[in-house]
Amino acid sequence: MDKYDVIVIGGGHAGAEAAALSARSGVRTLLVTQQLESIGQMSCNPAIGGIAKGTVAREVDALGGIMGRATDQASIQFRMLNRSKGPAVWSPRAQCDRALYRRAVRSLLERQSDLEFLQATVSGLKWNGSRVAGIVLQDGSVIPSGAVILTAGTFLRGRIHLGAETSIAAGRAGEPPSVELSQAIQSQGLTTKRFKTGTPPRIDGRSAELHRLTRQNGEGPSHFSFYETASPLPQLPCYLTYAGSAVKEIIQRHLLESALYGGVISGRGPRYCPSVEDKIVKFPEAQRHQVFLEPEGLDTSEMYVNGLSTSLPRAVQLEFLRQVPGLERVHMTRPGYAIEYDYFPPTQLDHSLQVKDMPGLFMAGQVNGTTGYEEAAGQGAVAGINAALSVKGVDSVLFRRDEAFLGVLVDDLVTRGVDEPYRLFTSRAEYRLLLRQDNALRRLLPKAEGLGLLSESELRLAHRRLEQEERAMAVGREVAICPAVANPILSAAGGNSITEPTRASVLAKRPGVSLAELLSGLGISVDHEVAAWADIEFKYEGYLSREREDVERLAKLDGFEIPSELPYSEINALSFEAREKLAAIRPVTLAQASRVPGVSPSDLQSLVTVVLRHRGL
Ligand code: FAD
Repeated sequence: MDKYDVIVIGGGHAGAEAAALSARSGVRTLLVTQQLESIGQMSCNPAIGGIAKGTVAREVDALGGIMGRATDQASIQFRMLNRSKGPAVWSPRAQCDRALYRRAVRSLLERQSDLEFLQATVSGLKWNGSRVAGIVLQDGSVIPSGAVILTAGTFLRGRIHLGAETSIAAGRAGEPPSVELSQAIQSQGLTTKRFKTGTPPRIDGRSAELHRLTRQNGEGPSHFSFYETASPLPQLPCYLTYAGSAVKEIIQRHLLESALYGGVISGRGPRYCPSVEDKIVKFPEAQRHQVFLEPEGLDTSEMYVNGLSTSLPRAVQLEFLRQVPGLERVHMTRPGYAIEYDYFPPTQLDHSLQVKDMPGLFMAGQVNGTTGYEEAAGQGAVAGINAALSVKGVDSVLFRRDEAFLGVLVDDLVTRGVDEPYRLFTSRAEYRLLLRQDNALRRLLPKAEGLGLLSESELRLAHRRLEQEERAMAVGREVAICPAVANPILSAAGGNSITEPTRASVLAKRPGVSLAELLSGLGISVDHEVAAWADIEFKYEGYLSREREDVERLAKLDGFEIPSELPYSEINALSFEAREKLAAIRPVTLAQASRVPGVSPSDLQSLVTVVLRHRGL
């Protein structure tokens, strides 16, 4: 068998980015997956982005990944969420055509040089001592490699539950689980645990009375990618309805028939994406729960019933669906189900997503205890880049918490671990104003360029965009706007008028007043998206500089390195809990140690003393 530099196991959202960025790093990469047709498959809702997740999708794009481009090729409804709130929480979200998204991911990957594909099931890993040396396929053949990235998603000992009575071994509906691989890795000494997640039923939209429901249109086509422009597709609406007391009554009556409450599921599920059973049990006072009917694609009438994820039997699902306004005569095309699977607690990884003490083995996506396409893609990007660096013998690249949501995601996983499926929120980041969707390119271009991840033409586009943004800012600082031009704009935003010519940068600080609008009043046309960066920098100047000062202050803690061989169990000055936790995580800096749960300020003080003594100071 040929030898590869990097082998990626799995063609989901983590696997696709890992393969793309490993190959973009210039190393020979093989993507092995159970079914080539399911590369880029969205297991659950057909949408990319949303709160914090949209920023991650843009960060992955800035690094040269494929999620943003694939989304643009498949987007059938675009919305910028949270526009009414501050820009730190603006989040692009696109409803996608499920089939087009899958096709786009595959064709983008096939365009990539240094990347090959193989349809096969991996049953084990080949080891050279504690170092990974390749993969073993189900037929016993071995493919050697310098590094392996495991991105097997919900497939590891996956088990689907459809009611308390029906349970099927599967990685997701219609695809077999991966049993041997999980056991093989576990036998090397890695810990596994179980999580669960679920998906709602799908319906035939023709059987729903959509005209009775609240129609929700998008904002019109827009885009995620900084590098490629896809032709816009026709845009489709979503519909809003609700599950009220009749649904509640049915679910309460059948609760013990659900896999979740019938006692057959042991794994924990995502708190922020609960099943409808969970919502009814945990929020008994709620009169009704929102349900969004989302299109599955342009050439299908099938719809995704967002909000009604369930593990109840098929017949009960149909019974409660028909109590939802607009769905009284609905035809259910596929039932919802719950799935339980193995994951590897991510505190077993370092910041490059390599398993500690098992050089060459990287992990990304749902196998690390996360949930969501974007979380998977973000980790795939980090693992792909670092696996390639490891085979080149180059130090790994780490993303700081103030630099990218990718940094927050990875640091949370490896430092704090997970006790429920982890998903991103803006509140997980301490520097929210710095980590915006509009400045993802500016934040990550230096890394992408330094690592050689971008083509010449992508680099040209990226630099041109940043220059345009800076020019918009410079113009905003230079030009003064006279009252005759400014006052109509200011009064439309509900603000006081001016009596003297005033700089655009000063006026743009006002809420609801956009720099692009002010400049266009002077006949200077600037793209709204380009001007948005300068606009935000003007509006939030004070807050931004405070966050930047905090980052600088914390950089001192980040610069205080902790030796990896520190014998924590012998450091009596540390509390017992801190000794245990620090020994398990082995933080590399004082800043990381400060984030380990159970480590107190006095433990940190003791740690500083011990490290200084260790250094002979
Ligand atoms: P996946 O997308 O699962 O991809 C895994 C890949 O690995 C597949 O291509 C598979 O074929 C391949 N593979 C597995 N084992 C092997 C092997 N041994 N050899 C070769 N290839 C292998 N996310 C949300 O954010 N919200 C939700 O509500 C939600 N609900 C979900 C409901 C269900 C039923 C499922 C299945 C998933 C749900 N998710 C949800 C999770 C979302 O689908 C995942 O987070 C995301 O797909 C994870 O991406 P991944 O790349 O880690 O894994």
